[in-house]
Amino acid sequence: METNFHTHTTRCRHASGSDRAYVEQAIESGLKVLGFSDHSPYFFEGDYYSTFRMRPEEAEGYVDSILAMRREYQDDIDIRLGFETEYYPRFFEKLIRFYEQYPVDYIILGQHCLGNEVEGDYSGAPHYGNDSFMQYVNQVIEAMETGCFTYVAHPELFNFFGEQQYFEEAAHKLCDRAAQLSIPLEINLLGMRDGRNYPRRDFFEIAAQHGCDVIIGCDAHSPDMVCDRGSEKIALKWCEELKLHRIEYPVLRRPQLR
Ligand SMILES: [Zn+2]
Ligand SMILES: [Zn+2]
Repeated sequence: METNFHTHTTRCRHASGSDRAYVEQAIESGLKVLGFSDHSPYFFEGDYYSTFRMRPEEAEGYVDSILAMRREYQDDIDIRLGFETEYYPRFFEKLIRFYEQYPVDYIILGQHCLGNEVEGDYSGAPHYGNDSFMQYVNQVIEAMETGCFTYVAHPELFNFFGEQQYFEEAAHKLCDRAAQLSIPLEINLLGMRDGRNYPRRDFFEIAAQHGCDVIIGCDAHSPDMVCDRGSEKIALKWCEELKLHRIEYPVLRRPQLR
């Protein structure tokens, strides 16, 4: 791997290691591009507090740190500034406006909740309804259609226990639209390493049928995960066996409202 655009920092409260340690590990591993995409602040109503993302007042320190490292390490690695975030329709516009004040290179979609965090359902919880995966997929498609997202992280994050035919039907819909919009889908190495419900090989079989662009993302929550050769090897084998169209350099889209 030459690039990784899915990297966290301690600001999200469930990652470890200094910002600099991620960069140094990336250089040591031979990466040419390291993109930081920590869990974005979000702006909700009332007193709801999100526990797995940086607070709005931490964003400036995050941006300053990434930009300072970009200059410091420019001869060794290309550092990019991003965020991982959800598409919550009610709160999305405010979020994109917030990004306007920073030189954000890209954002990736990690749809951790259905609907939104305040009223909705956690995507990783087991879902048994046959139409539940389709609901998730429809929301991901709406997110892709905003034009704001550079790629979809763990597109099959949703923990679906319904019948296989319903999984496949929804997966076809997602992959078809991703291919039309040229938005890459990520094989997530964190899920691979932890044995989570994603990445799913059957999902990527469908992605291959649609000729989707596929990107491997480390989803690093500690510096050592910037280079997880074991998981990387399995992901590369999937790409080869399924004849996936793997890309390393996605077109970075600055998030903006159309
Ligand atoms: Zn995380
Ligand atoms: Zn992530």
